[in-house]
Amino acid sequence: MEKTLVIFKPSAIQRGLVGNILTRFQQKGLAIAGMKMIQLDEKILREHYSHLVEKDFFPLILDSMMASPVIVLCLSGKDAINVVRLMIGATNGREALPGTIRGDFSLSNQENIVHASCKEDADKEIARFFSPSEIFDWTPANTPFVYSPLESN
Ligand code: ADP
Repeated sequence: MEKTLVIFKPSAIQRGLVGNILTRFQQKGLAIAGMKMIQLDEKILREHYSHLVEKDFFPLILDSMMASPVIVLCLSGKDAINVVRLMIGATNGREALPGTIRGDFSLSNQENIVHASCKEDADKEIARFFSPSEIFDWTPANTPFVYSPLESN
């Protein structure tokens, strides 16, 4: 099964949305392969958001992402990377569609509740936040009721 990285940003932690959002991922059928709370620092954020370090708003991203601990989550499922990106919605919460996580919980470009990996970055991002021993390859007992036999490998 494919794996992807999700970060519950300080906006999710501070607003008490962790349980709600985690429930959405579980209701969808995605499995938790790893999960922990950590405090981000500037070094890891410069790496993680390397495509944005030259932007004038980058210092605001640093402040925002270090405003409290975050929860990093590794989710597993068929096409998990694309499924989770669809579930979180567009970057700007004001433009994200209703029904998506950002569309339902955010009014902001910056305070947009969650991060989720893009296809080309998922493996690298999982390795950035988790050691191999913190990621679990397990098969949920409900798998036959989430996927057809042709989908569940
Ligand atoms: P995404 O998180 O949807 O993959 P990006 O990689 O473009 O989007 O941006 C990373 C994060 O940087 C966003 O989730 C958001 O928190 C922040 N960000 C992006 N653009 C802006 C902006 N114009 N102003 C403030 N923060 C921004």
